[in-house]
Amino acid sequence: MTTAERTAESTSGGQDVDVDAVIIGAGFSGLYMLHTLRNRMGLRARVFERGSGVGGTWYWNRYPGARSDSDSYIYGFTFDRDLWLEWEWSERYPEQHEIRAYLEHVTERFDLARDITFSTNVLAATFDESTDTWEVATDTGETVRTRYLITAVGALSASNTPPFVGVDTFAGETYHTGHWPHEGVDFSGKRVGVIGSGASAVQAVPLIAQEASDLTVFQRTANYIVPANNGPVAPEVKEARKRDWEGIRERIRASNFGFELEFEEKGALEVSDEELREQLQKRWDEGGFGIWLGGYVDMFFSDEANARVREFLHEKIREKVDDPEVAELLVPKGYPFGVKRNPLDSGYFETFNLPHVHLVDVKANPIAEITATGVRLADGTRFDLDAIVYATGFDAMTGPLARIDIRGRGEELLREKWGEGPRTYLGLMSADFPNLFMITGPQSPSVLSNMPVSIEQHVEMIARAIGDLRERGASRMEPTREAEDAWVTHNQEAANATLFPKADTWYMGANIPGKPRVFMPNLDFVGPYRAKCAAIVENGWEGFAIDGEAVPAREEVFA
Ligand code: NAP
Repeated sequence: MTTAERTAESTSGGQDVDVDAVIIGAGFSGLYMLHTLRNRMGLRARVFERGSGVGGTWYWNRYPGARSDSDSYIYGFTFDRDLWLEWEWSERYPEQHEIRAYLEHVTERFDLARDITFSTNVLAATFDESTDTWEVATDTGETVRTRYLITAVGALSASNTPPFVGVDTFAGETYHTGHWPHEGVDFSGKRVGVIGSGASAVQAVPLIAQEASDLTVFQRTANYIVPANNGPVAPEVKEARKRDWEGIRERIRASNFGFELEFEEKGALEVSDEELREQLQKRWDEGGFGIWLGGYVDMFFSDEANARVREFLHEKIREKVDDPEVAELLVPKGYPFGVKRNPLDSGYFETFNLPHVHLVDVKANPIAEITATGVRLADGTRFDLDAIVYATGFDAMTGPLARIDIRGRGEELLREKWGEGPRTYLGLMSADFPNLFMITGPQSPSVLSNMPVSIEQHVEMIARAIGDLRERGASRMEPTREAEDAWVTHNQEAANATLFPKADTWYMGANIPGKPRVFMPNLDFVGPYRAKCAAIVENGWEGFAIDGEAVPAREEVFA
């Protein structure tokens, strides 16, 4: 059947809807979803995107130094060999503007823009039980009826500005790393304060320091930060990778985290001091996530094992920072390594050796107030500033979904259903919200992986679900309550067996006052999760109900 014929069939079969699918967001997820549904399956799909262009995360996060922490050769789509071969990345890690250019190229190559409505926020979506359709309302006053609603909203797209007293009173310039001005910012000759020391600050601070006359970093929690080791990639390495498209694709799909990284066979507690240091040094010199996601797996479970790795990392910080007092402040304390997202460093620690750069501990002495002239701490110390940069992160994973009034059966609001933490099956669907699919939703591997790998897997699984529904002539799919409950329990048990709950992180929702403390990503790992999903599909959609007909899930799904 040609695409045109399929389109005609889809149109005639869907008189009760305006489109077959509404997709929210035009980042990696939304673009691939649109390409799959429209170009491959011949469905009518429409994307709503709040930005004026494509890119999602990479549209908004334009702060100085913004780049992916994934190696560029695996930070892209693998679904099309020619696309993969024709795109050239300039460095080991792709910079923000390059990723955006890549996504613009994808948009053009697959003619996607004509079905994307830009500068439009989806405000609400309500499930209509009488027709098994969703009514989607936007801030431009449009209402669209669709069979399938697919959220491609990203896990880190709802920016968080802490509710400091006086936050609106500052008379100088205010920025947030998560929605940076398109025209850039010139900090030359300015006194700048950066609040936060996560991955965004770690990338921005060295570059802001080059311009600012005075820079103060307000740090609440010191981070474990390892070298990025960015730079050009040797032409012969690039060539070898191009030739190995199939191999790379297979390996990252089967891997633990979507990278070409494997854990050491032995644990940190099973090797001598000498071997441990040699291995850690090797990974330190290579740069990237090797020390975190390709090191010693026992460090995620045993504090004793973890302490051996942290000791090495503490030493490295002390070597890099001249002033011993500043170094001590930069040494993380009170939580294990690896359970808080590990930022990659390109000169962050060395920046604190510059005379005009200062580090302030706002754990011991919290920010009491933002004033017209700057920041005041609890002990009364004041900092006069010309600009404040909030590098204070995101209401992660659930935040972007909670901002939309998504109402399922009985008009229940998704954010209310998730009041005590997310409740999903596979991080893909939630009971009583039929035909709502979430790309890399909470309780899927998502943020604990190289995102494009997880995105492709979810998009392809959703496409398969929609294809199967249409083939059966079914109009409604949803997880069973039993499968969802068991998945939630499985995720909590898996997290509780690790050290992840021991730190206050956005994985735990701990960065947002009042958010329930629940570990949100899934810990099955990319390859095993993928295999689990494939088996679920092959067994006739275990744990799901199609038009009310449920297929129970095997116990292995929750192991
Ligand atoms: P983040 O990691 O959540 O860091 C936010 C920072 O703001 C933390 O240092 C936090 O301190 C601080 N903060 C929050 N509320 C505060 C308050 N009331 N007072 C003082 N400090 C406060 O956010 P992010 O740096 O934007 O990164 C978020 C995630 O986005 C990353 O973990 C990563 O997954 C992704 N990201 C990726 C890249 C990349 O791939 N290169 C780059 C940037 C971001 P606490 O630590 O004490 O909470």
